[in-house]
Amino acid sequence: MNEEQLSKRLEKVASYIKTNERIADIGSDHAYLPCFAIKNKTASFAVAGEVVDGPFKSAQKQVRTSGLTDQIDVRKGNGLEVIEKDDKIDTIVIAGMGGTLIRTILEEGAEKLAGVSKMILQPNIAAWQLREWSEKNNWLISSEAILREDNKIYEIIVLEPSQKEVTWTKQEIFFGPCLLKEQSAVFKSKWRHEANTWQNIIQTISSNQPISDENQAKIHELEHKISLVEDVLK
Ligand code: SAM
Repeated sequence: MNEEQLSKRLEKVASYIKTNERIADIGSDHAYLPCFAIKNKTASFAVAGEVVDGPFKSAQKQVRTSGLTDQIDVRKGNGLEVIEKDDKIDTIVIAGMGGTLIRTILEEGAEKLAGVSKMILQPNIAAWQLREWSEKNNWLISSEAILREDNKIYEIIVLEPSQKEVTWTKQEIFFGPCLLKEQSAVFKSKWRHEANTWQNIIQTISSNQPISDENQAKIHELEHKISLVEDVLK
């Protein structure tokens, strides 16, 4: 992977950046995504934010060697704190982290979201956290994608601020409203695999008699999740 040839996952994330957008890529690592977006003219300006020194220096180096220091500002900082009002950011990208961490970044940086018209989020796990956040904060899920790369499955969620109240069903929070409608082969494969894993966990826990109250509660929770999956895949 480099700034010209992104991974399939990052390429799909980048495909939601359309034309001349002012983007902030939070957790930018090598800054491949902002370099790619500037080179392809989907973005006209980018902030690449990184909290860890090593990836921050890699991002700086990448932007320098790509000759893009005029259009990409690499900034060290936690989450959305790297965004300044004068940046006039319209698109925020947060990719390659867990859903819980992305949610914390959005909650801690809530005041930086004023004026932002799109967020492209790619949680590696716990995507439901972001759908729940979108409902609580009135952001509409305008698109979702699911894809497989190197035997891992990734979900992408695109959010836009909504004037109307946003509500999702429990099923939509869990599976994703767009992904649920589409029911692609990758979607089915992901949830079949998850349900099998949960079934195996139940068997392992149940073989340890007597079952503690804590484990009994865990079994109930997993059985509930399996029934959600069965309802959707039947
Ligand atoms: N976004 C790139 C991608 O999708 O390929 C890099 C993903 S990498 C696995 C996650 C990056 O996020 C790491 O470089 C990590 O240092 C950075 N990161 C984690 N928490 C962060 C935070 N609160 N603020 C900024 N960057 C963060």
